[in-house]
Amino acid sequence: MTSQRHAQATRRTFLARATAAAAIPVTAGLFAGRAEAADATDLPDYAAIPSASLGPALNAQGYYVGQIKGNLYWVTDGYYQAMFLTTRQGVVLVDAPPTIGRNLLRAIEEVTQANGRPSTVTHLVYSHSHADHIGASVIFGKDVVRIGHAETRTLLRRDGDPNRPAPTVTFDDRYVLRVGGERLELTYHGPNHSPDNIFVYAPDQETLMVADVIYPGWVPFTNLAVSQDIPGWVGAHDVAMNYPWKTLVGGHLGRLGVRADGHLQRQYIADLEASTRDAMATVDPTPFFQKYGPAGNGWAIFKTYLNAVAQQAAAPVVAKYTGTLAAADVYTVDNAFTMLESLRIDSGLLGPFGIHP
Ligand SMILES: [Zn+2]
Repeated sequence: MTSQRHAQATRRTFLARATAAAAIPVTAGLFAGRAEAADATDLPDYAAIPSASLGPALNAQGYYVGQIKGNLYWVTDGYYQAMFLTTRQGVVLVDAPPTIGRNLLRAIEEVTQANGRPSTVTHLVYSHSHADHIGASVIFGKDVVRIGHAETRTLLRRDGDPNRPAPTVTFDDRYVLRVGGERLELTYHGPNHSPDNIFVYAPDQETLMVADVIYPGWVPFTNLAVSQDIPGWVGAHDVAMNYPWKTLVGGHLGRLGVRADGHLQRQYIADLEASTRDAMATVDPTPFFQKYGPAGNGWAIFKTYLNAVAQQAAAPVVAKYTGTLAAADVYTVDNAFTMLESLRIDSGLLGPFGIHP
């Protein structure tokens, strides 16, 4: 058996075991097979994940597929999400996360077998160019119509990744995709998480898909979703909430979102910003300059001062959201650091590094 096939067999075995043992949360599947050989004893402990943050159990293949409304469905592996519409002419898929990979084909087959619609994926919409959301595009072959923002095409031509062919149908502001009696509205509202991240709205199903902005039940992924434009990303929450959706597909983790998830994440961001502003105003920079200034180590001053501000900013936010938003204790310091950097370089709140008197 090749090592790759062995790894796949190990993963399948583990997934089957994880599914059989109901006490193991859905998110145990993907990486846990590797943990068997590793020493995890020195790794930190974190607060328990609120049960409301977890999604439905995965099947033996490691995925869950569910109906959102009408002909609109979603798929998850507990880490990533995709969405698809079954139409009279074929399937419209939004995103192809590599961790779900060929389980996308299984999920689509399962649904179309049941509803009698054609199973061929005829259209693949790219939410944005990032490999973790669209890196399994290649498995849909040459004939699928790939649709995305013009900037997505530019970025993917630069990246040259054979697993992510650049979209051939592109748009700048808005594109209405009509296939086999179904409809999706693709809209670009400016840069946020990435320069090309779009909003995909299914009006008949009152469902919005936007990746890497709102994380239902969880704090955002590290450094405010490693967003390239933080003011744009914060503003994208308002853009998302201005759509009249009832269901949100956030692209990550194991469950769908409801409107309360959007309100809660906006509150988390607002609290984080207020706490970061407060920490900037109260952490005394003097000791950092005293310790590292004489040796001329400017980076040590920046690192230790900014880390101290981020730590102080995060503490009350972690305390408030632990037990409500999963992993508040995992990523809030990193999120505070990015909020701090954005307040410094975007808002011009430079603290001890402002205009010299
Ligand atoms: Zn991304």
